Amino acid sequence: KRIPVIAANWKMYKTKDEALAFIFAVNEKVPARTEVESIICAPSILLNLLVKREGENLRIGAQNMHYLDEGAYTGENSPLQVKSAGAEYILIGHSERRSYYNETDETVNLKMVAAFKHELTPILCVGEVLSERESGATKAVLDQQLEKAFLNISAEQALNTIIAYEPVWAIGTGKTATPQMANETIKDVRAKVAALYGNEVADGIRILYGGSVKPDNIKVLLEESDIDGALIGGAALDPNNFLVFTEAA
Ligand code: 13P
Repeated sequence: KRIPVIAANWKMYKTKDEALAFIFAVNEKVPARTEVESIICAPSILLNLLVKREGENLRIGAQNMHYLDEGAYTGENSPLQVKSAGAEYILIGHSERRSYYNETDETVNLKMVAAFKHELTPILCVGEVLSERESGATKAVLDQQLEKAFLNISAEQALNTIIAYEPVWAIGTGKTATPQMANETIKDVRAKVAALYGNEVADGIRILYGGSVKPDNIKVLLEESDIDGALIGGAALDPNNFLVFTEAA
């Protein structure tokens, strides 16, 4: 059985006080870790603050890191720093990083390797843009992103990866993929994982949907056979919504 995952991506939102208010509001209420993996992916500057106060059923992740352990890279955070701040998860290859910060399939792969080197669980983001969806290229685009991301990654590591399928046209737009469309595409992603690593890994790996997930569509999405959870931006900034999502899983 795949344990569902609800991951909030706070993006560049929340001050220290707002982050504390959120965590105190949800700490005691998130479902048991054995039922659902509840994760907050926070700005790096807030990680340590959150880790110190996370309740036993909450987990903290970062949104980005460099792939090198250290170096002269002003403004960046290393995997060692993310790890020593106490984060357990790392978002890799979010479409906003790919489009605004020139993240490529190659740097995504280097960050995947770095994540496992430092025992961080990667949440690997993949997804097509609207023109690719409309021209029927979605499967080819995802296959390519997955193939490159998983270079030099072992089967055991792949099994411990969380994949987030986020169609770029659905992020922050209010346009959710229909549950059926999301499920069909996630089945394709799972098939690609099977082609790379075999059925055991494909059956065990968690694959999330992301893109305009709201309290009123979470249930229908999670009812689909292959959607193992959600990666949620805007709607998960509200602690009450976050609890609705974790309870739906
Ligand atoms: P929204 O939920 O705001 O559409 O964002 C999705 C996302 O990018 C999560 O990583």
